[in-house]
Amino acid sequence: MAVLTEPIKNPLNLENFIDGEWVASQGERRDVVNPATGKVIGSVPISTRAEHDQAVAAASAAYPDWRRTPPAARARCLFRLKELMEENFEELSRVQTMEHGKTIDESRGETRRGIENVEVATGIPSLMMGYNLEDIASGMDEYLIRQPLGVFGIIGPFNFPFMVPLWFAPYAVATGNCVVIKPSPEDPISQVKIAELADEAGIPPGVWNVVHGEREVVSAMLDHKDVKGICFVGSTPVGRDVVYRRCGETGKRVIAQTGAKNFALVMPDADIDRTIAACMTSFFGNTGQRCLANANLVIVGEGLSKTEHEAFYTQVVDAFVAAAARIRIGYGLDDSIQMGPIRDPGKKAKVLGYIEKGIAEGATLRLDGRNPVIVGDYPDACFIGPTVFEDVTPEMVIAREEIFGPVAMMMKAATLDEGIDMIHANPFGNAASIFTGSGKWAREFQYKTECGNIGVNVGIAAPMAFFPFSGMKDSFFGTLHGQGTECIRFFTESKVVIQRWF
Ligand code: NAD
Repeated sequence: MAVLTEPIKNPLNLENFIDGEWVASQGERRDVVNPATGKVIGSVPISTRAEHDQAVAAASAAYPDWRRTPPAARARCLFRLKELMEENFEELSRVQTMEHGKTIDESRGETRRGIENVEVATGIPSLMMGYNLEDIASGMDEYLIRQPLGVFGIIGPFNFPFMVPLWFAPYAVATGNCVVIKPSPEDPISQVKIAELADEAGIPPGVWNVVHGEREVVSAMLDHKDVKGICFVGSTPVGRDVVYRRCGETGKRVIAQTGAKNFALVMPDADIDRTIAACMTSFFGNTGQRCLANANLVIVGEGLSKTEHEAFYTQVVDAFVAAAARIRIGYGLDDSIQMGPIRDPGKKAKVLGYIEKGIAEGATLRLDGRNPVIVGDYPDACFIGPTVFEDVTPEMVIAREEIFGPVAMMMKAATLDEGIDMIHANPFGNAASIFTGSGKWAREFQYKTECGNIGVNVGIAAPMAFFPFSGMKDSFFGTLHGQGTECIRFFTESKVVIQRWF
């Protein structure tokens, strides 16, 4: 298969988008590198606190008029944004592959999921409605209205550069707020493309801003008195110890969706072919760099003798390893490719470190992805192939910590309860899956498991845009979640009015 045409021909000089203008930054500049080809495709500024504050000032100035704009008119801007995203669907998807490394199919899926959030937010005239009750006392009525708050900061991770800020921004602006988005400096181009379309869609200057950068911009957002709330998606140490803690100190609303280590349980009655197919995209899709990726596969022997359990384990692991070994690795713009590279050399070194750790801990390296066969000639890329460990026990570091790469751990549990206990012994609670034909086991699993997103015969338990993107334990800090109606509540304050009719 041929490599699709690259939409970025020459390196892009990225700037901040403030008050409807592209504004040059005084900060240092960093290269944005295509992780498959190793070529520089852009340069991004690491902006200063003053530049962030300039964006917040623009957003604060735009807020009163935007808030007064009728919800149906705000929704019309989002309808136009959706149409523009559809028109540019393929280019937006190819940009993601170029800046992140994921396959073109994965990028198209990400673009679709992002657009779905814009679509849901266009329902704002209904979604934002309050409620009322007459005659709460003689001649008195009471009603609830939802009002926007002002300016919100949105901080994105590197692994879904297009979609993640769209879990929040469309709902924030639909409800009448203004936003400052800080993308990951590793792959910031998608958010530049979205800001261009938001501008073209008629979203007024100052309502939708993008400020590139890193810690200084995050710290400025967390400190600024006019930023009413923060939406953060990223790792647990930053989300919990920096963002959530500081928002508590400064009294800001916060959604902090953080790291993960997800388990999938395979029950003896599971359809093995379908389970393995679902596992391949779950464990190795997005090169394992996905907060909903399963990492630990637990083969459960509920109702089986010890010998039968061993045979079942061998059957599942053999099928898993055989399928993993067939995955085609290469540049994601070749649409025959099933897995792209790791984002950058630092992340690759971290994943390789975990593989060394697994070997040192005594796990058996059943499939070694350290020197994978690549389709095409990409000597500068950070490829790691699917890697499978057997004989993994729950206390091993490779079973406990988030590796964020294509590394799968094969484990055993005698019963469903033992499998659920393994999940609960892990500090994270983002997602978990069960593969079974039994309604009883599925019900028990979804009832007991302390994870925010549950898959039943589904490997990637990704909530649709009209459901909240949940998370528990070390995977989430806050109260309300991104996406859907919970997000509308996050971006609005309820006000209750009691009225006496004289
Ligand atoms: P990260 O925590 O390194 O970075 C996230 C954002 O915070 C980036 O914009 C980054 O520039 C900024 N940042 C990094 N270090 C900072 C610091 N010390 N102070 C202030 N800001 C800082 O995360 P990442 O590597 O970009 O993303 C991967 C992580 O995100 C994984 O842990 C993954 O599980 C998680 N994730 C979670 C979800 C979810 O919904 N739970 C979704 C996607 C990704």
